[in-house]
Amino acid sequence: MDGHTPGETVDMNSVAVVAVVCRRAWNAVDPRDRTEMKSPAQTVIVHHTALRFLISGDGVVYEGRGWGIVGAHAKEHNFHSVGIAFMGNFNDELPSSESLSALLRLLHIGVLHGHVRPNFVLVGHRDVAKTACPGEHLYSLLPKLREQLQNH
Ligand SMILES: [Zn+2]
Repeated sequence: MDGHTPGETVDMNSVAVVAVVCRRAWNAVDPRDRTEMKSPAQTVIVHHTALRFLISGDGVVYEGRGWGIVGAHAKEHNFHSVGIAFMGNFNDELPSSESLSALLRLLHIGVLHGHVRPNFVLVGHRDVAKTACPGEHLYSLLPKLREQLQNH
């Protein structure tokens, strides 16, 4: 997704539109290693800290490692999953509807472009590790998000 200006709307098709800010635009520090994933991600892990992609409260997506690059968010799961983090602490606050719909659109784009398997599993970080991440309020919305993904 390099080459996009900050806040530019990436129009993949009429259904999947999401504002993505690429790494360079937000002056991200280069990752120490950049291992390409061998196949499309089979799992998408939702977090509430800084990882593969960050979704802000206003629904803008900040690129982390980017699609197809092994992340550093969930140990042994890094090699077959994409990590997407919401900015905030959702033990206390509720995620905005803008950030939730940005997640759905981002996942739709990931599937369209072959970065994520069409039958991927959406889980919270606490499903695969002993952690409170992604926070109670965000975690409790995952079943609803899975439902919405199925109806896409
Ligand atoms: Zn996490």
